[in-house]
Amino acid sequence: MPQIDSGRLLKDLYELRAIGAYRTGVHRPALSPEDIQSRRWLVEKMSAAGLRAEIDGIANVFGWSAAPGRKLLLGSHLETQPHSGWLDGAMGVIYGLETARVLGGGIDVAAWFDEEGWFGSFLGSRSFCGQVADAEIGAARRRGDGVPLTEALAAAGLAGRPRVQAEPGRHIGFLEAHIEQGAELELAGDRIGIVTAIVGSRRFRIVFEGAQNHAGTTRMARRKDAGVALTRLAGAIEDRFPSIAHERTVWTTGSISLDPGSPSIVPGRAEMVFQFRDTEPAILEALDAELATLIAAANLGPCAVTAIRTGTTAPAAMDPGFQAAIAASAARHAPGKFQHMPSGAGHDAQILSGIMSAGMMFVPSIGGISHHYSEDTSDGDLVLGCQVFVDAAAALLS
Ligand SMILES: [Zn+2]
Repeated sequence: MPQIDSGRLLKDLYELRAIGAYRTGVHRPALSPEDIQSRRWLVEKMSAAGLRAEIDGIANVFGWSAAPGRKLLLGSHLETQPHSGWLDGAMGVIYGLETARVLGGGIDVAAWFDEEGWFGSFLGSRSFCGQVADAEIGAARRRGDGVPLTEALAAAGLAGRPRVQAEPGRHIGFLEAHIEQGAELELAGDRIGIVTAIVGSRRFRIVFEGAQNHAGTTRMARRKDAGVALTRLAGAIEDRFPSIAHERTVWTTGSISLDPGSPSIVPGRAEMVFQFRDTEPAILEALDAELATLIAAANLGPCAVTAIRTGTTAPAAMDPGFQAAIAASAARHAPGKFQHMPSGAGHDAQILSGIMSAGMMFVPSIGGISHHYSEDTSDGDLVLGCQVFVDAAAALLS
């Protein structure tokens, strides 16, 4: 049975952690100097592992195997959320690299550009799957500083490079390892998660139009208070959604604003940013219909309420054969300590699943914490997870 080199695995992870280090975490915005440095670092590691390494025209990093026959594609992403964790993305890339070394052929490795959405949505993996037109790249700007993607790519020396797309027939499929970013594994005392499906999401901006007026002189009966309309709708969602939701359905009002937002002014306008997620298309449809019903009811009040759809991602089922390979490997290395589970977070595997078989494996996150610099996983779980991953990859290749 192929054995990983646990010292080499942890050394790679710690080297990568040092690039853009922030407290105990990492700050590597997409195409920041630290992010570019991490991509070049990976190219060297891939080359040393015997892969043909390249960075393509959208900063995806690839390491290609020269072995004959079909390959298994492994990987995740290198950039991070702001001042965030050291393992989100990085772990899956290094697992891929270690697997390529241990299995010695048949493994391609990818670090997808901008899974974290600094410039858009899954630009790197979507580009590889043929879903990104040049116009989208031309229009993309980095969240926060507004730097155009084309400028950032040019500054990284990538201007004019072709974007690599999937070669039909080359890959058996895509397998991604990732930290869980939740607490399910830890709470259950489990060490490996086998992802059944990645949730789909629907995102909305809901706008409430009322009438701005004096908070002292405007009688309650005459008010068109956009803030009240907003809180009523938010309350109605909390009342109604649980009767439609499954156990792991989630919905979130992530941001609320009142305009003008002043103590002595009745708000004339309000906005809430709302989303819900589930793995079942029927549940997403039912929640969508319920939201429309609640908004229609809200419009019977004094304010005009409009929902603007800002994003939709489809749920992605993971390949049953890939799930079985991970489960068989987990049963050997962590008997009784693994579970099948959905992923509540989005990942590149959901994009790749559109063009090839895809699978995902989770390792525990200490305290369920992620998207924070204190994100961590024990060395023991990092090592065990990589061994399970390598064996699953070997089984899929054989
Ligand atoms: Zn990630």
